[in-house]
Amino acid sequence: MSKAFAGKTALITGSTSGIGLAYAKALAGEGANIVINGFGDKDAIEQERLGLEALSGAKALYSGHDLTKPEQIEAMMAEAATAFGGVDILINNAGMQHVAPVEDFPVDKWNLIIALNLTSAFHATRLAVPYMKGRKWGRIIQTASAHSLTASPFKSAYVTAKHGLAGFTKTVALEVATFGITANCISPGYVWTPLVENQIPDTMKARGLTREQVMNDVLLAGQPTKQFVTVEQVAAMAMFLCSDAAANITGANMSIDGGWTAQ
Ligand code: NAD
Repeated sequence: MSKAFAGKTALITGSTSGIGLAYAKALAGEGANIVINGFGDKDAIEQERLGLEALSGAKALYSGHDLTKPEQIEAMMAEAATAFGGVDILINNAGMQHVAPVEDFPVDKWNLIIALNLTSAFHATRLAVPYMKGRKWGRIIQTASAHSLTASPFKSAYVTAKHGLAGFTKTVALEVATFGITANCISPGYVWTPLVENQIPDTMKARGLTREQVMNDVLLAGQPTKQFVTVEQVAAMAMFLCSDAAANITGANMSIDGGWTAQ
């Protein structure tokens, strides 16, 4: 049976670990050429890249640019264009977190989080849309967050960036609606990834709690299922949004949060 995305190219930002890597594996499994991006150990990334090619039977390219810098986003898109002639599926997923009270929030962390979690999606989207319009087909997906819909204390930059991403996505969806292109957010609750694990020490400090208390009383406190979302569940939503069945889902914000934002 032919694979659903054979001949298409998917660029996933921040895909050397966590949710991004799960998207890459799922799309490779359906035959897409893949561009992965993000930081990490060179050998481990090369192993992942080879694994993606084995899954897809197509090509996988690693583009290790720092997406807090607009000129490096341009370089990444140029590499994708040289290798594959453009991008059909863009998943803006790279993100970072910092936890601190607003009056102590380091200005450089604020600037970095806005640059990576919000502004990088603008640059990648503006550069990808011309290819998608030319082919009259495209899928733009943002990994937003439950924090695109609601807030938590001590995460001012992250919540601001994710709310901005939700508004940006709705705007783009309207602009590209007649070109066969959709733009949507996926908004997970807490997914067990390095990003979540790494914020535990800062949350322990900010709130004066033990590791166990942070896990049960902070992270999963608002998630009624009392389970972390899995990266595979998030990737399955992206695969659906990329399918023809989802051609009329655009400008939407798809929650996968164990009931968090239903409260
Ligand atoms: P992760 O830390 O596992 O992955 C983040 C990825 O971004 C990595 O590949 C990392 O190398 C890359 N990255 C970091 N800084 C970068 C930069 N300057 N330039 C390019 N790449 C960079 O985290 P994750 O949990 O998989 O998060 C992925 C996305 O999902 C983020 O946007 C995050 O906000 C969002 N999200 C995560 C959760 C969760 O609970 N884990 C919940 C909701 C939303």
